[in-house]
Amino acid sequence: MRRFPKSFTQQEPIAEAAIEAAVAVMRTGRLHRYNLVEGEKGETALLEQEFAASLGVPYVLACASGGYALQLALRACGLERGEAVLCNAFTLSPVPGSIHAAGGEAVLVDILEDTTVDPDDLAAAARETGARFFLLSHMRGHIGDMDAIVAVCEAHGITLIEDCAHTMGASYDGRPSGTFGKVGCFSTQTYKHLNSGEGGLLSTEDPEVMRRAVIMSGSYMLYDRHLAAPEAETFSETRLVTPNMSGRMDNLRAAILRPQLDELASRRQRWNTLYRRLEAGLAEMAPVQTLPRHEKEGFVGSSIQFRLPSLAHDEIARFVAGCEARGIPLKWYGKSQPEDYTSRYDSWGYLSATRPLPNADRLLATLCDLRLPLTFDEGDCDDIVQLMGDAMDQATDKATPE
Ligand SMILES: *Cc1c(COP(=O)(O)O)cnc(C)c1O
Repeated sequence: MRRFPKSFTQQEPIAEAAIEAAVAVMRTGRLHRYNLVEGEKGETALLEQEFAASLGVPYVLACASGGYALQLALRACGLERGEAVLCNAFTLSPVPGSIHAAGGEAVLVDILEDTTVDPDDLAAAARETGARFFLLSHMRGHIGDMDAIVAVCEAHGITLIEDCAHTMGASYDGRPSGTFGKVGCFSTQTYKHLNSGEGGLLSTEDPEVMRRAVIMSGSYMLYDRHLAAPEAETFSETRLVTPNMSGRMDNLRAAILRPQLDELASRRQRWNTLYRRLEAGLAEMAPVQTLPRHEKEGFVGSSIQFRLPSLAHDEIARFVAGCEARGIPLKWYGKSQPEDYTSRYDSWGYLSATRPLPNADRLLATLCDLRLPLTFDEGDCDDIVQLMGDAMDQATDKATPE
């Protein structure tokens, strides 16, 4: 059986400019974010300044990971121990995990056919719980109806925090993803849109949220060395009442990221070319239903999702196994036992509050997902579609005998 020859987890190499910037930092020995000589701004502070400019917001904090940014966002927005935090039922384990780590109780909200959050169920969950926070995950890069979501949050006095791990560089109605709520959180982990191994970014326009985030991230009263934070004089009320929970990014990773920021727009274009090619091919395959995209959504197609609503569990299992045998590692959210990352809420047994989630239950049962690394080209997309078609014919007994 022919196998697809490339790896779905192979990203592009780090560009020479980023390697040189990293080596330059190492030559100084000053890797710590605040270890600067007279007149030096520091890679971390510069990255924050540049990312803030790209979003059009005043404040950005670079962190150890996207999950850390989420925790910090909840804490800086004033989450209290045991408080309910709403989050969409289709998300990734670091989201409920960060709510848990920040002392909150995740309460899941149901989704729509396109896997984005259901604004009506969000309103219902808000009424049921009186929650003050909604951690909205733009899961797998799908941005929901932000007008409706923001309206529900405003009507219920809910603080919106956006998880933009899959929407860095994306927009909705021309506005950057991450600027709709009080805080935007991003990840620069290897499988996201910029690659520093691990890393995260937090953005906000709220000066007090930013002051708390700066102190919590371990500023050791050196907040005057930030370039995308409120003026040092304004920290007097925050500085002695905010705990230090070290987790800001170091200069080495920031140096690797700064040259990549300039590439974000061209990466988005390249990803969307691959996405549209694969989407067009998959749309030709009978049982496959690709997900609709909201017209206001300027997405980054770094992965693709589709559903197989007419197939039985066994058929999907055979299809997934057939793809696997052809070198195509499909993620199937309906699998009884998760094998890699978990995105089904029954994998998070530590959650206490449960609400009925009929759409999530039904949709995830037949939802599949493929990563699209930039090491692929359009010919690879055609190849993947063809091999998946073979696997589908075999799984649904349409294969011509060999
Ligand atoms: C990767 C990811 C995160 C967390 O990012 P890390 O940097 O790995 O901590 C959060 N949410 C979603 C949806 C993600 O995919």
